[in-house]
Amino acid sequence: MKIVFCYPLFLILILLSFSTCSAQEEIDFTRLREAMVNRQIMDRGVNDPDVIKAMRKVPRHLFVPQENRRFSYADHPLPIGEGQTISQPYIVAFMTEVLKLKPGERVLEIGTGSGYQAAVLAEIINEVYSIEIIQALGESARETLGALGYKNVHIKIGDGHKGWPQKAPFDAIIVTCAPEKIPRPLVEQLKEGGRMIIPVGRRGTVQKLVRAVKRGGQLKTEDVMLVRFVPMVTP
Ligand code: SAH
Repeated sequence: MKIVFCYPLFLILILLSFSTCSAQEEIDFTRLREAMVNRQIMDRGVNDPDVIKAMRKVPRHLFVPQENRRFSYADHPLPIGEGQTISQPYIVAFMTEVLKLKPGERVLEIGTGSGYQAAVLAEIINEVYSIEIIQALGESARETLGALGYKNVHIKIGDGHKGWPQKAPFDAIIVTCAPEKIPRPLVEQLKEGGRMIIPVGRRGTVQKLVRAVKRGGQLKTEDVMLVRFVPMVTP
């Protein structure tokens, strides 16, 4: 009885997976990416040419799990597995622009996730150091970035609260998960005059996206908008 019942189900599943495969192949991701940059990013005021160029180039859909690929260029965050998300494209562009990056600089990212934000950074600057606490995500990001030929992204599995002292100081630091307060090691590992962008707030609440510059060893901070990121967890 069980076998009779399972067979058609199995066939339907196979047919369904074929039909989603061919539907995916028909999606023109390049056109979707162009539209994303024009409508979600430039129309909302992001205009740094290096950021626009990077957002036009990086194939965001390759950082998104197969089952969500067709939504890759939509105007919202998406699940990437392990309960984590890839940020909304506009937020990636906005946070990158705030850092005012220059070619040749070195940047630390906390929260590698899919590796997409790291790829956008790697298009603009020299070396990206990115820390991810979930091993499976860090390894998968490493694989995706490797397959796309990014040699200037270095991923470490570990707790971002500690930063990456061996590679410090950094010209800029971008944090894509939200701590309750800015971790002191990150301030210490930022160069004098260096820039930071970081969401700050309690778990489960809306957070403040904070832009900061290091002057005289201290951060000068400014709140720029309200956001909702996954929490920065402590192991
Ligand atoms: N920048 C990512 C999105 C990040 S989602 C992208 O472009 O896809 C936030 C990530 O921060 C998650 O992958 C989560 O596992 C990670 N994270 C949470 N707490 C962390 C910590 N203490 N140290 C490092 N990474 C952390």
